[in-house]
Amino acid sequence: MKKGIDKLIEKLMSKGINDRKVLEILRKVPREIFVEQPLRSAELCYGETPLPIGHSQTISSVYTVALMTQALDLSKNHKVLEIGTGSGYQAAILSFLAASVFTIERIRDLSLKARSAVESLNIHNITFIIGDGTIGFNEYSPYDRILITACSPDIPAPLFKQLNEGGTMVIPVERNGSQSICLIEKKNGVMHSKDIAPANFVKLIGKNGYETERPQQF
Ligand code: SAM
Repeated sequence: MKKGIDKLIEKLMSKGINDRKVLEILRKVPREIFVEQPLRSAELCYGETPLPIGHSQTISSVYTVALMTQALDLSKNHKVLEIGTGSGYQAAILSFLAASVFTIERIRDLSLKARSAVESLNIHNITFIIGDGTIGFNEYSPYDRILITACSPDIPAPLFKQLNEGGTMVIPVERNGSQSICLIEKKNGVMHSKDIAPANFVKLIGKNGYETERPQQF
């Protein structure tokens, strides 16, 4: 797998991923742990595409994970909320760069699998929550950083409320039929937003996201 990672890191650098801490952690966390057995080849795990993880959901491409992680500008004292645990790969990456990570997933089976993948890597600063991430998780708020890894029709109000003053949120948003990753900052309680890249995410489904397509599996 090592050759695959080296090549991918080179590609990421050529695409503007230059945060050394992020690149170092991408090397360290084995993505193959987070995908189904038949997909565990270097070509797929360290290729440039998202991969299926079941339930019509995906593990984001490494470039997308790198871009969003870099945009969060994490410090070791940060408390992070992630919406959309999926495979758990992004949460694992965040766990090495922050103090603690709370990650919410609406599909129970994915959350349980993610938890066991993370445990196999001896990571102990991630709390897994099963539920609707569009309402956030007030009990542990405020969060210094919030990352949403599914596309939202808007910025969910409870998430902005649970963001710490001076904090940053990274979220893919759909406008006029196309998606972009937005960097949101909270300054004196006011939202400042800028688009950082185009995106192609699965939908954020919930009370403050898109409508439920099928019964939720809490
Ligand atoms: N971060 C993930 C990873 O590293 O594998 C990839 C996330 S995948 C692109 C998006 C995830 O968001 C899916 O697992 C989906 O079930 C989840 N999701 C969608 N709406 C949600 C909601 N309201 N609350 C929590 N999770 C949600």
